[in-house]
Amino acid sequence: MTLIFSTMDFKYELEGVVKLFLPAQSFKITVSPTEEGYEGDICFVKREPKGMMTYLYVLCRLGGKVASEAGIVLNSSKDYRRECEMTLARYVYMCLSRLTGITPEWGIITGVRPVKQVNAMSAKGMTDDEIRKCLSEEFLCSTKKINVAFAVAKVQERILRDLSNDSFSLYVSIPFCTSRCSYCSFVSQEVEHSLTLIPQYVSNLCSEIRHTGKLMKTLGKKLDTIYFGGGTPTAIEPAYLRAIMQTIEESFDTSGVREYTVEAGRADTITGQKLKTIKECGAKRISINPQTLNDSVLSAIGRKHTVKQFYDAFSLAREIGFDVINTDLIAGLPTDTLESFKQTIDGILELKPENITVHTLSIKRTSNLNHSEERELGDETAQMIDYASQRLVEEGYLPYYLYRQKNMLDNQENIGWAKPGTESLYNTFIMEENQTIIAVGAGGSTKLVDNKWDRLKRVFNYKLPLEYNKNFDLMITKKKEIEEFFTLEKE
Ligand code: SF4
Repeated sequence: MTLIFSTMDFKYELEGVVKLFLPAQSFKITVSPTEEGYEGDICFVKREPKGMMTYLYVLCRLGGKVASEAGIVLNSSKDYRRECEMTLARYVYMCLSRLTGITPEWGIITGVRPVKQVNAMSAKGMTDDEIRKCLSEEFLCSTKKINVAFAVAKVQERILRDLSNDSFSLYVSIPFCTSRCSYCSFVSQEVEHSLTLIPQYVSNLCSEIRHTGKLMKTLGKKLDTIYFGGGTPTAIEPAYLRAIMQTIEESFDTSGVREYTVEAGRADTITGQKLKTIKECGAKRISINPQTLNDSVLSAIGRKHTVKQFYDAFSLAREIGFDVINTDLIAGLPTDTLESFKQTIDGILELKPENITVHTLSIKRTSNLNHSEERELGDETAQMIDYASQRLVEEGYLPYYLYRQKNMLDNQENIGWAKPGTESLYNTFIMEENQTIIAVGAGGSTKLVDNKWDRLKRVFNYKLPLEYNKNFDLMITKKKEIEEFFTLEKE
């Protein structure tokens, strides 16, 4: 498809809306005052100020069929640019919806954090009714999605109420996996190919933890939550896990830590010894992620463990006595069907994990799945998500965090569900960007948040373990950015 813009002003935003309808297509983008002379599928967007008003016009042509929308915005409008952008986005949405028969349920919200829209409007003093009206009429969201965004915002209100600007979370990256799942886009290294890197990696990681611990103490910041992610943290030996966890204990004041999670992830990496080590070293929350309870789907996505291995790992974690167990599931996996997904949901509910995270498959360029499979895969995904939501609500779970990614099947979302009182603080903070997250390890991204002055800054670590090991001294130098950020806060 060719995207023709009369001006490039809202190019990214409008391209995002077109992609909701045509996620697998590549676009040619051009600037022209007219659509004349362009063949084939087009989306033409025109913004033309004339006198006291601006004319807005969108014309889409798809497979020979045409739809158009037109209107005006007064140049004197209080929020003129936003009004133009929102109106054009709605026009593009309406035209493509008519031509494709698709009505993406999040409307023209293309960002990854829809709940932030609700929180931002609420912070401006808008009532719930006004926010609902805005989401429905301006953003074209479905009632179903508005309800879920509100439900999440309500749970988060309680979690975020007493959040101190001086608290922070620690993210520890273990970017190794035993093999690569076909849908994965993370920067993780297969253990087999990176065995030699691990000892140096762990040693550097411990140095980084010590350095960061000292820095955060100097800055007077208080450690609130700890999260081990990856990769698969349990892909490394228990002695390494113990060394890292003990270094955290020695380097930070952990007396105020409210939540400590290790994302064990894949069942094929979980052993009793690893779980005991994790528990002894202080973690109380663990994630064991089957993604599906269907062996043939596991095999189709290259996840080299069985359903039985998941059940064994889950009961081991229960026996060892973790307070909270989370299980991650994915809707829309290749070869999965609505029926088999329903069985997965029902099977997981029987285990009564405290948290269940239901993801929608998102197809990334860096994964081994390719876009040709996308349409085929997307058909039943919305029904899977509907079924999961209905069953989870019936069983007493509440949605507490929600985010979207690019190229999600059926334009759905990822939702973290929890039994009331067991919501993960870390997941909420990272999603809503209202607490500083200090990341250590390769692939980690530190998010510095200053709620008082509404400042946010990201500092990235080296992505791959090899780069991380090689450039370790440089990486430690980067920590100065943390110091500068918080020094400014005090001035
Ligand atoms: S376990 Fe997770 S991080 Fe590792 S390859 Fe699979 S999806 Fe990627």
